[in-house]
Amino acid sequence: MSAIAANLAAVKARIAEACRRANRDPASVTLVAVSKTHPAEAVEEALAAGQTVFGENRVQEAMAKFPPLRAAHPALRLHLIGALQTNKAREAVRVADVIESLDRPKLAAALADAIRKEGRAPALLVQVNTGDEPQKAGVPRAEADAFLRACRDEHGLTVAGLMCIPPVEADPRPHFAYLAGLAAKHGLATLSMGMSGDYEAAIAEGATHVRVGTAIFGARPYPAAT
Ligand SMILES: *Cc1c(COP(=O)(O)O)cnc(C)c1O
Repeated sequence: MSAIAANLAAVKARIAEACRRANRDPASVTLVAVSKTHPAEAVEEALAAGQTVFGENRVQEAMAKFPPLRAAHPALRLHLIGALQTNKAREAVRVADVIESLDRPKLAAALADAIRKEGRAPALLVQVNTGDEPQKAGVPRAEADAFLRACRDEHGLTVAGLMCIPPVEADPRPHFAYLAGLAAKHGLATLSMGMSGDYEAAIAEGATHVRVGTAIFGARPYPAAT
């Protein structure tokens, strides 16, 4: 077994155990394997081990890596999880099945336009800056309700759910609980929360998608922009 296959098996076992503790069906949690900065060969190894859902944070890297992999593996699904510039909206809509980082009106307008032009509609998640950190992407807490309404009413977008990245030093649980409450309030089914260090806590709070990189692929060869 390759190291990646062994890591995947270990992460899946921990997800199953976290689901058991939370009285949840393991099938209700999707593992997004975050392959940013790792080569296509690493993704191939994960595919060979049965993993089909991947996450990348840069459009350019996703465009370089994924179209050939997708041609060979039709079941592959790609999530874009990084901050997205409006001038990359068209490429993002072309390459992604899910865009998890919708966080401002200009991007909502650009994505709506790109979806019309491309005739392709990835699922959209609104990223919430649950820690209201000035340097971090995501809608501030106080603006989340209004932004969710604007996505629907002004931009004609269907939002499938919410995503967050809690502050590094904080206990993530209250952030996950807040995001789950906000999703329930808006009737949104998808909750992308939890990374290598905290995905079990996220599952306890209702995550439907956990984004796990390091615990599957190992330390990243160079720092990724976020
Ligand atoms: C890199 C990244 C992850 C994965 O982080 P790990 O700690 O390596 O599991 C998850 N979500 C986002 C948005 C990321 O940029």
